[in-house]
Amino acid sequence: QKIATLQAVAKKYGATTALDGLNLSLQAGEVVALLGPNGAGKSTAVRLMLGLASPTSGTVRIFGADPRDAASRTRVGAMLQVARVTDTIKVREHIDLFRSYYPKPLPVAEVVRIAQLEGIENKFFGELSGGQKQRLLFALAVCGDPDLVFLDEPTVGMDIEARRGLWQQIRSLKEQGKTVLLTTHYLEEADALADRVIVINKGHVVSEGTPAEIKNFS
Ligand code: ADP
Ligand code: ADP
Repeated sequence: QKIATLQAVAKKYGATTALDGLNLSLQAGEVVALLGPNGAGKSTAVRLMLGLASPTSGTVRIFGADPRDAASRTRVGAMLQVARVTDTIKVREHIDLFRSYYPKPLPVAEVVRIAQLEGIENKFFGELSGGQKQRLLFALAVCGDPDLVFLDEPTVGMDIEARRGLWQQIRSLKEQGKTVLLTTHYLEEADALADRVIVINKGHVVSEGTPAEIKNFS
């Protein structure tokens, strides 16, 4: 069952071509790593699948619908590099706000537990450490109990312990049957987590396979 598809997608920003004939699809329940160097088009692909930007040409479908449709948006969660959070809003208030976007959100206590936010619910976002900020962003991605989760470079800047903690959470999403697309430029991270790796460069797919297949290529 196809959860998300991009068909012949191009995205141009003025003279810059961010995506150039990108084709990819996500099947229900798989964890896919979108791997590629800086500027390859990973974030742009995620933004298009979230309906935050429109393709210049080609087709993007999420759960068979336009990504901007409410029916697909309410089944999707995301952890982006540029997040919609505010320094002067508390952790708990962020969770309440993001839960309100979804028809069947997880209980607050479960969100707090999953993301290990116990004891800091009343802190302002601006007061959190780097690792705590990342954990809140993860909490906001999963609080709506979405079927499809986008994680854009979720462990960038994390120390090894925090990174492994987040890897465990991603594995847990898979065990729950969620579909996960994560972008990364670490082959190691793709290897640790992904069922399938899609390597992109210059806005299109250059190779695709299991982590083992990709490692043997490179
Ligand atoms: P990645 O996530 O793989 O690092 P991006 O999708 O961020 O790649 O960027 C792909 C290309 O598109 C880069 O050349 C980048 O500078 C450009 N780009 C991305 N977003 C914008 C934007 N909003 N305006 C102009 N150029 C952009
Ligand atoms: P929005 O109003 O949806 O945030 P923008 O396209 O103005 O839309 O910017 C969205 C994202 O694109 C931001 O994350 C921004 O940092 C990034 N961006 C803007 N210009 C560039 C660029 N030249 N290269 C890479 N990323 C860019």
